[in-house]
This record gives sequence, structure tokens and C-alpha cells, in this order.
Amino acid sequence: MSNPFSKYSKKTEWLTGDLSILGASYIPENFPHREGQIDLMAKTLSSIVRNTRPSNILLYGKTGTGKTSTTKYVTKMLQEATDYNVNVCYVNCQIYDSPYSILVTLANDLSSNINDQIPPLGWPLDRIYYELLNRINRQNRFVIVVLDEIDKLIQKSGGDSLYALLKLVDDSQNSRTSMIGITNDTGFLEGLDARVRSRLNQESILFPPYNASDLKDILMYRTKGIVAEDTIEESAINLCAAIGAQEHGDARKALDLMRISIEMAIRENRNRVTDEEVNKARDKFEMDVLKEAITTLPLQTKILLLSAVVTQEIDSSLMITGEIYENYRNICEELGYMPLSARRISDILSELEDFGLLSTKTKNMGRYGRTRAIRVLGQPRLMKRYLLEDENLSMFRGSKIIRQSRLSTGYNDVIGMEAPQEIMETKFNEILESEIQDNSD
Ligand code: ADP
Ligand code: MG
Repeated sequence: MSNPFSKYSKKTEWLTGDLSILGASYIPENFPHREGQIDLMAKTLSSIVRNTRPSNILLYGKTGTGKTSTTKYVTKMLQEATDYNVNVCYVNCQIYDSPYSILVTLANDLSSNINDQIPPLGWPLDRIYYELLNRINRQNRFVIVVLDEIDKLIQKSGGDSLYALLKLVDDSQNSRTSMIGITNDTGFLEGLDARVRSRLNQESILFPPYNASDLKDILMYRTKGIVAEDTIEESAINLCAAIGAQEHGDARKALDLMRISIEMAIRENRNRVTDEEVNKARDKFEMDVLKEAITTLPLQTKILLLSAVVTQEIDSSLMITGEIYENYRNICEELGYMPLSARRISDILSELEDFGLLSTKTKNMGRYGRTRAIRVLGQPRLMKRYLLEDENLSMFRGSKIIRQSRLSTGYNDVIGMEAPQEIMETKFNEILESEIQDNSD
């Protein structure tokens, strides 16, 4: 037998560069359509060159509009321009989301000595704070703290953590520290104390969504040097750009699609990238996103989603909370897990809706109280496959799954009620109410 890899190892002539350059961690040297934002950042930060502390900056805009990468680019350029007289500490608040972890990360970032590392647990907060302050003061150079996805920090630990960090900026000697906050959700600002808010966005810079023609320029620029000239058909670039533009002007999506399209063409031994590859890449991309979304769900959430999927499988009409809950309990019983309370289930259904996996619509059913009409969105079959890949669910056989209600009407029609559904929903609502009462006692 010939080596099974031999058919893949044939060199692809038209691939002239490294595909990973299209990935998110690569920082390009140019940012088409972001010249204005880069200029504004540079203008604000340029006070460092004149030895004065720059204003804090808040960058905002949807995902994939270039906030993180332009910030990394600009701060790198600033370091070059100042002979590395600026220390840039980058923290992603999606990963480090407590005041403790952020202060520790910053303090450890500011010390090159491995013996000075603060442990990830155990120190009181004020001790870390003063240690960090000392380290900043000892630096004798400017420090720029970049807090990326800053809304996640507020979401998880409230405004106090931000207040502490802003205070740090003020407390540091000769005020040589400033902050760049990055967010794709400015909603968090509303909940903040007015003083914190105004300190955070002394200067704010909007990153508007890219349109299809911007994205086309970006794609052309980023693919130059990776593939031989004219091997990506113009219509394929246009299609990637259009899909990215549709998705709130997202350069990441456009670039990811292009990378996957090129990979597809290589794997299939094609010598160019056409619309066909882009369309296939789009399908694969959406499958990957779904898989990622599902495999990272907590186990109980998976069980609930599985219940919704298999309930809908029996009959595609709209479902109600009560029957999904009932089947969820059946699955828990079958697999030997303790079911969660009705109240938690109600919350998890809302979370699944936020993820875009379900749609729910609350209906008033008179004396039976309120119910939610639920539908699994997208590709339930694929969801089921990904769910059952979890080894904790692999024993699922679904022998007790039943479908009792018939909410067979369309979304906006009146609910056709049948006896079993009344029972299911009243029971669910009763359980829910008794739990709420238990809790308020
Ligand atoms: P955000 O932080 O706003 O979500 P990123 O900065 O991570 O967006 O950008 C997403 C991807 O798109 C990155 O790979 C980035 O390099 C690329 N990108 C964004 N804007 C541009 C641009 N104007 N030119 C070239 N590449 C860009
Ligand atoms: Mg980002």
C-alpha cells in the first residue's frame, strides 16, 4: 500500500506564503480603513513622547472591527518610537475577570524576575494593590494598561474593580500610567458611576462596522503574498466580503472564511479559490461555530438542550416548558443525574435562547398561567450529534421521551390547547411557584 499521506504532501504551487498569517494572532503592518482611528490613538498617546501622561482611551465597536489588533499595533509602534521606554500590559478581561487576577497579572507582567511572581491565589487584595503600585513607581517609565473586553470585567465583578484600576492610574507616582479600555458593548457604561465613566473615556474612539467594499480591500491586502496572483477569483473575495459585511462588518469572519476556503482548495487539489470553496467554507464555519457552542455548554445545559431536541424530533410543532422539563427529568433519570430545579431550568432556557440555539415566546394561557412556546433553531440533528459526543451522554437511549402537547399552530396564532398540555404546564408552573416561595421564606 502506498503511503496514505503521499497524496496530501504534493506541494501546492500557488500557495506562496504562510496561511497562519490570516489568523487573529498575526498583527499586520497596515490597517486599511482604520487610518483615522490609528491616528487618533497615536495623537493621544504621543504625549508620552513629550513626557506627559496620555488621557485614558476607550475603544468601542462590534467584534471583528479591528480594535484589538490596531491597539497591539499602535502600542508596539509607540514602544519602538520611544526606545522601549513604555511598558505595555495587555489583559484580556474575558480570561482574567476578577480584580484579583487582573492585579496579579499586571504585577507579574511588570517584573521580569521569576522570584517576584505573585502566586495566583492567597494574597489579600490590598497587598497586591500596593505591590503593583510599588512596581509601577519603580518602573520609572510610562505604563499603559490595556484592558480588552472590559465589559466582561464589569459584568462579572461590577464597577468596583474598574474603580480600583482607575485609582491605580491616579495613585501612580508622577502619573505615568494610563489605560486603554476596549469593548464591543458600551451598554456597561450606563451602570457605572459618572466619575468612573468620565475617567474611563477621557478620549473615546469608535470602530464602525466595515462594509463589503472595506472588507474586500482588507482581504486583498491580507492575502497578498500568501497565494500567487489571481488564484483567488474576484467573485470569491467579493463573497467573503459580503458575508463578513452581513455579519456586522466583521473582518475576522471574512478572513476566517478566506483561510478555510484556501485550505479547502488545497485539500481538493484545486489550483484556485472560487465561490464554491467559499460556500463550502461557510457551511464548515457554521458547523464549527455550532460545535464549539455546544461542546462548551455545562452538562446540565446539554441535557436540557438534548431534551428540547428530542422532544421536537417526535413532532416539529412548538413545545412548552413543561414537556421539555418532563423529558429533561426523564433523561436525568435514565443517565443517573440529579435534575435541577424548575427555576434553574427556566433560567437555562433563557441562556440557550441567548446563545441563539432556541427561540422562546411567552404566551399567556389564562387560568393556566404563562407558558413559553419553544423551538429549537438551526440544525437540531447536528446539535444532537454534537451533544451525544459528550461521553456523559453517550448512554442516552431516549426510551422515555414523550410528546404530550400540541402547540401545532404558527407562532402568532392562538394556542390550540389540549388536556395533556394543560396538565404539563400547570404542573411546571406549580413547581416553579413553590420553589420561588421556598426561596423567599
Ligand atoms: P476586534 O478586537 O474589534 O474584535 P480584531 O482586532 O481582533 O477585532 O480583528 C479581527 C481580525 O481582523 C484580526 O485578524 C485583524 O488582524 C483583522 N483586521 C481587522 N481590521 C483590519 C484591517 N483594517 N486591516 C487588516 N486586517 C484587519
Ligand atoms: Mg478584540
